Amino acid sequence: MKYYKVIIVGSGFGGQSAAVNLQKNGIDDFIILERRSFMGGTWCQNTYPGAAVDVQSLLYSLSFESYQWSRMFATQKELADYTHHVIEKYQLREKTKLNATVQSANWVAYEKRWQVKLENGEVYAAQFIINATGPLSTPKIPEFEGLNTFEGNYFHTNQWDHKFDYQNKKIAIIGSGASAIQVIPAIADTVKQLHIFQRTPHWVLPKPDFKFPSFIQNLLRFKPIYKAARYLTYWLLESRVIAFKYSEFARKLFAENKAKRFIKKSFSDPAFRKKVTPDFSIGCKRILLSNNLYPTYQKDNVSLHTKEQGIKKITRNGIETIDGQSLDLDLIIFATGFDAATSIVSYEVSGKNSKHLREFWEAYPRAYLGTVVPDFPNFFIITGPNTGIGHTSALFIIESQMNYILTAIQQVDRENHKSIEVKKDAEIEYTKLIHTEMEQTVWKSGGCKSWYQSKSGHVIAMFPGFSFNYYRLAKNFKKNHHTFE
Ligand SMILES: Cc1cc2nc3c(=O)[nH]c(=O)nc-3n(C[C@H](O)[C@H](O)[C@H](O)COP(=O)(O)OP(=O)(O)OC[C@H]3O[C@@H](n4cnc5c(N)ncnc54)[C@H](O)[C@@H]3O)c2cc1C
Repeated sequence: MKYYKVIIVGSGFGGQSAAVNLQKNGIDDFIILERRSFMGGTWCQNTYPGAAVDVQSLLYSLSFESYQWSRMFATQKELADYTHHVIEKYQLREKTKLNATVQSANWVAYEKRWQVKLENGEVYAAQFIINATGPLSTPKIPEFEGLNTFEGNYFHTNQWDHKFDYQNKKIAIIGSGASAIQVIPAIADTVKQLHIFQRTPHWVLPKPDFKFPSFIQNLLRFKPIYKAARYLTYWLLESRVIAFKYSEFARKLFAENKAKRFIKKSFSDPAFRKKVTPDFSIGCKRILLSNNLYPTYQKDNVSLHTKEQGIKKITRNGIETIDGQSLDLDLIIFATGFDAATSIVSYEVSGKNSKHLREFWEAYPRAYLGTVVPDFPNFFIITGPNTGIGHTSALFIIESQMNYILTAIQQVDRENHKSIEVKKDAEIEYTKLIHTEMEQTVWKSGGCKSWYQSKSGHVIAMFPGFSFNYYRLAKNFKKNHHTFE
């Protein structure tokens, strides 16, 4: 059995941030376990046509590694290049074991360490685990009657089959969320027929994207300029919280009315306008950014099927719809999202007294600072419950979490302890605060059902407030909220 001080599970930006921060603080005794045959997470896995970030790249990047971005919103290819740049620069490849799917983690109380089992039977041990398995890493395909009888091809956007030539093919895409709206314009001109199955329309705003002229790219080489631009972007985006949480008036004025005008300008047909207009408040689900989605919806070879024209069943040849159409298809693309609620930690975790994390989260997932759970000592969850953010970069929160995690580990080392655990009262108080604050937000009261919510109705994905408030909470380590052994 191999023993490490820290095991990091997952090699996306969360795992990379953890690894680099450990290195910078003199902790080299760690390993990254990654289930895939390649490193990098989100941007190396989601290679579907049109994939791109919807947060300005200057901010959607790790604070310790600047980059000469080629445009305001990087495409998947550039983000994958950036990821590889980080991996190479900090020599993370040497620290990573690929094809290493973690199956379970058990706390061995008398040794005060975790035992980690892989799917292939290997066993590792570590004092600390930093879980960075990603909130949107495990694709979800809902059950459809007849899917197993379909004789064409099908795959999820997260597992795009680049060997499949979609040119001139008859294709259905199921879903109309963040990934779908990027794939649709990217393939529509090439395919013969594209059927879009939209359960609910989403609010869409224009994407203020553009290629950086070379002088801006050159300026980005200078750290102070890069930092200043990043800082400015951060504060511009941060102001959006006012609309998400504090002011319905601002939300309507600056976002919903703009989105409605965008619909009106894009479609002349009132029936089509109705088809694409959501019945919930803007922001309740992720606001989508696209300049070419609406024109694509109106192309001759594209049909938009609403809920009433939705899928009755999948057949040998294609899809039978509720309103009696029978569609012949070569390919079905599932843009059906991720198993966000149940895959915050994608393996079994058994803590003190054999308590299971899944059981603790049965009512709804919760964690102190979205990072630690009572009875699970030395176990840190990056992008845990209520650490999601709709208005700014997820990486800002990930890096804020790292401040807390590092302080916690350093505290254990400094005082010659072996373990740290959050107190039950501290977790309860924090969770109460989160869900009280959540009451005011559009995610709770905006009139939609989204993956932000658990089955219980609690909003478990989002942090209900300014990201600088989260940063402050995570930075301000409260020793009295923890027990040490
Ligand atoms: C298509 C897409 C677009 C997105 N766009 C944005 C955006 O515009 N802005 C934004 O802020 N956020 C966006 N996100 C959210 C994104 O998930 C985060 O920004 C960030 O990349 C999360 O990094 P991560 O390291 O936590 O997770 P990931 O990048 O998902 O990495 C998790 C890693 O853990 C590995 N893993 C999982 N389970 C196991 C296991 N049991 N054993 C071993 N390894 C395991 C996975 O294989 C993966 O490599 C997007 C997500 C997706 C999927």
